[in-house]
Amino acid sequence: MTITYDSLLSEITAPDGRDILDPATGELVGKAPFRSVDVLDDAIARAKAAQPAWASRSDDERKALLLQAADAIDAAAEPLAELLSREQGKPLEGPNARFEVGACANWLRATAATELPGRTLIDDGETHATIHYRPLGVVGAIGPWNWPMMISIWQIAPALRMGNTVVVKPSEYTPLSVLALAHVLDTVLPTDVVNVVAGEGDLGARLSSHPDIAKLMFTGSTRTGQAIIKSSADTVKRLTLELGGNDAGIVLADVDPKAIAQELFWGAFINTGQTCAALKRLYVHTDVYDDVCRELAEVANTTPMGRGLDEANVLGPLQNKAQFDIVADLVDKARSSGATILTGGAPDAEAPGYFYPTTLVANIDNANPLVSEEQFGPALPIVRFESVEEAVEMANGLDVGLGASVWSADLDAARAVAARIQAGTVWINSHGGVHPMIPFGGVKKSGYGLEFGVEGLAAVSAPQVING
Ligand code: NDP
Repeated sequence: MTITYDSLLSEITAPDGRDILDPATGELVGKAPFRSVDVLDDAIARAKAAQPAWASRSDDERKALLLQAADAIDAAAEPLAELLSREQGKPLEGPNARFEVGACANWLRATAATELPGRTLIDDGETHATIHYRPLGVVGAIGPWNWPMMISIWQIAPALRMGNTVVVKPSEYTPLSVLALAHVLDTVLPTDVVNVVAGEGDLGARLSSHPDIAKLMFTGSTRTGQAIIKSSADTVKRLTLELGGNDAGIVLADVDPKAIAQELFWGAFINTGQTCAALKRLYVHTDVYDDVCRELAEVANTTPMGRGLDEANVLGPLQNKAQFDIVADLVDKARSSGATILTGGAPDAEAPGYFYPTTLVANIDNANPLVSEEQFGPALPIVRFESVEEAVEMANGLDVGLGASVWSADLDAARAVAARIQAGTVWINSHGGVHPMIPFGGVKKSGYGLEFGVEGLAAVSAPQVING
């Protein structure tokens, strides 16, 4: 059965649902069914009932089903991308909607190919001990609105691979994308293995305190992560918390500004800056400061922003009004502090949608809120430094640490600086790229727990030692 945009939408919407509006135009995308806690409880009960049969399938069967799910996503890629573009705002083209849908299929395949077998720990004639990775039961997942499909797959795929079933609570801003993804997965997977319950207000708290949720995976704000830690305490739930951050990039004096400008730009502006591990504060050595600013402005001024369904665009709107207001407020504060707006900074109040122009802010103090607070949008502060010591101190000066990057022609010099940065990942001469076989997670208030690769599988399983 071929899935079209219209058939997809008719499967996942409800006449009495919540209006979901296109952030680029304000037009109705569809009505999302917003459910109550009772419906969530029922979904958890069904996931719990379905879990033993799912876990009792052989590893090869589960792998084969994940591969079939990837094929199903590929077959529905264009309608999924169109829906994602309309609901989230991100363009079809560039590292955006089609890229995100493609990443979902890739992640499923990579997860199917990742192995976490049990192994012998000691076998010395006296002691015989082995470790095995058992399913946890039902895994809960609360996802964000910036990469709603991809991050849901990051949560769903490893959980399924290890024999768990899943209940997903999508962001209230992007429920349709996740419902659509689940609908496509459901064409292949057994009933109730993946359950999505959309809603707002009390579902997240219920999921994170529910006794039948063994593990909760959350990607979102530190504030909500802290609330989840509290509400999961009574049930001693395992948690993976990916709480974003305020990634620093350090550009050393020996770079070729023109050569790195594109990579730097996309490190900061991928998904129009709405990315957990985007470059959010750029520290540039004074020797190359003016040249880096000029080259970045050149890229910014020639990178088209607009409605996502227009194939020419590669940057889109902010996903929601709240995020637009955060970005606008931070840029206004930077401007009134005397910082230089190199480009952007003046949204068109008359135009439809939550478009905030690509904005570069130079000559800004490290203490400015645009530097110290997470903007999560298309506005990059560029801070000048004179010594590497000073740059490292500024990079490490915040209480978050998801990613960071160091830019230099000298790989050894860059690696030496990278080792001093407090972040879960430090990229060299790029920023933000993730890979399904490379573990990813934060330090400090960016959260804890690793996703992806073997470590990601271990995080959704219960290690059991058999000693004897
Ligand atoms: P939040 O990070 O605050 O998360 C909202 C989600 O968490 C909703 O699904 C909500 O469900 C759930 N939730 C809220 N309270 C609780 C609780 N006590 N226990 C469990 N779940 C709960 O998202 P926002 O959209 O409000 O974004 C706020 C900021 O987070 C952004 O400005 C941005 O800076 C950052 N962010 C970071 C992302 C990242 O990738 N790390 C992604 C998106 C945003 P319910 O309504 O049912 O309570």
